[in-house]
Order: sequence, then structure tokens, then C-alpha cells
Amino acid sequence: MNRFCEHDRVKYYCKECKGNGICEHDRLKYRCMECKGKGICEHDKFKNRCIECKGSSICVHDRIKYRCMECKIMLSGKLTGKRKREEV
Ligand SMILES: [Zn+2]
Ligand SMILES: [Zn+2]
Ligand SMILES: [Zn+2]
Ligand SMILES: [Zn+2]
Repeated sequence: MNRFCEHDRVKYYCKECKGNGICEHDRLKYRCMECKGKGICEHDKFKNRCIECKGSSICVHDRIKYRCMECKIMLSGKLTGKRKREEV
């Protein structure tokens, strides 16, 4: 089975080959707002980043996880706490 096209891409996602993963707007179908792809939620956002959908990238503080200062502090607090315990 040849999954790669002449453009050295996975054919399914190749824009030039119009793979099945590409929509009529030349975007990844599941991320296309206009096609309402699987990655787009009812709020017209990327599902995993949608606060209302509680996407996987959203933390308990309703922020994007990797940008959330509170999460960073929480995480670093946990890490130092663990390290201290290990030292004792
Ligand atoms: Zn191609
Ligand atoms: Zn589209
Ligand atoms: Zn949403
Ligand atoms: Zn957070």
C-alpha cells in the first residue's frame, strides 16, 4: 500500500493530490472552519482549545494549558515538593 504521493507527503493530507483529508478550501478537513471539520467545535473554535468545550488543551483555570501561569506554578510546586521529599 503506497500511502505517500509523488510530493513525498502522506497522500491523504496532500493538497496537491487533493487527498481525502483535504477539503475544497485546501485545508486539512478536520481543521477547516468552513467545513466544520471534526476538530472544530460548535463554537467555531479548535475543539481542543475551546474553553466552552473544555478541550484537552484547556486547564482547570479556563486557559490554554501551556500558557497558564497558575498551572506552571502548580506544576513547579509539585516538582520541587517531590524533589524535597526524595532528598530527605
Ligand atoms: Zn501529492
Ligand atoms: Zn473546507
Ligand atoms: Zn466549543
Ligand atoms: Zn491553569
